[in-house]
Amino acid sequence: MPGLKQRLIRLIEATGPISVADYMAACLLDPLDGYYTTRQPFGTRGDFVTAPEISQMFGELLAVWIYSAWEALDRPQPVTLAEIGPGRGTLFRDMVRTLASLDSKFARTASFCLVEASPMLAGLQREALADSGVHPAWHESVTQLPPQATLFVGNEIFDALPMHQYVKSREGWRERRIGLDAEGRLNFVVGAGVPDSEVLPPDAAKAAPGAVFELAPARTALMDEIADHIAAHRGAGLFVDYGYGVPATGDTLQAVRDHNFDAVLEHPGEADLTSHVDFARLRSSAGEHGLDSHLQSQGAFLCAMGLVERAGVLGSGADSATQRSIEADVERLAGPQQMGELFKVLAILPHGTTVHPFSAPD
Ligand code: SAH
Repeated sequence: MPGLKQRLIRLIEATGPISVADYMAACLLDPLDGYYTTRQPFGTRGDFVTAPEISQMFGELLAVWIYSAWEALDRPQPVTLAEIGPGRGTLFRDMVRTLASLDSKFARTASFCLVEASPMLAGLQREALADSGVHPAWHESVTQLPPQATLFVGNEIFDALPMHQYVKSREGWRERRIGLDAEGRLNFVVGAGVPDSEVLPPDAAKAAPGAVFELAPARTALMDEIADHIAAHRGAGLFVDYGYGVPATGDTLQAVRDHNFDAVLEHPGEADLTSHVDFARLRSSAGEHGLDSHLQSQGAFLCAMGLVERAGVLGSGADSATQRSIEADVERLAGPQQMGELFKVLAILPHGTTVHPFSAPD
């Protein structure tokens, strides 16, 4: 069986250029060669390190927020904790442990669900949670979750869902697609025209030639499902991702392989492929379901939730090497030059519910 790159080249030869979204979907979730379906990307030995893999403090503080959201909602029962895109299961494990120490009854009575598209990663999650004291259920879609109040979490899930790119040409906006160059190698090409009003924001008309605009219906669709579930059954959501809070143009598609940026078309299926999340779009989707949404930088959120104090507790009595490594983790998670500013925390809540550190709806 030829590798993914060869199969994509043959597909393009046979049917013409494919969208950036189709390319992303194949690279990430192709059943035979997809990045998430065949590799173990996260962690110090993987291609990149995500926040829960940096430190247990990340999951602990998210758990504290989730618990206070449940309290602010007047402790609905029955209740589900659901993580979307759980990777190696580290965040879920840290959260379950923290929730059990905050309130053992909550941990005994809640349902625990993981929504995961990769069977291989679901297997790793099963192993990671085998001795967690809870018995989670796995689902492939949010729509399969039990019809009851649900507390959602997700770290770096929206950035991994496919998105389309459009590029401004002299003749107007065109879809950016992936075709072949004269030597038969994968190459970006300009596709068919797009009627400006159909998918582009109102001010896109002012963009300069060459500008790139990204649109991710799969991300909006996921937020729609989550918001629909919360609007119907109550609950809350906390999602951490990297991206921008106000609509922006720019090509943000990036590949990461072995802790380095990689050319986007070079190693399909062998590199992680993500793009910046348009939080404004996710927020308007939550708003359409009558929910409030709040956005804060990861650094501000974690510090307001007590990151520095928690680091002090973890480090007290530890040797100086351990203390230095905890301090480095704090800097990595919250430092403005590291993950603190680029990564953002999006909270969604039923209208009128406020949960620290987010203030009343803005
Ligand atoms: N949350 C983890 C992993 C982030 S990577 C961490 O922070 O370490 C993205 C995760 O989302 C992977 O587990 C991937 O398999 C999963 N995923 C990708 N597309 C998905 C989809 N459509 N539905 C559910 N999970 C998905």
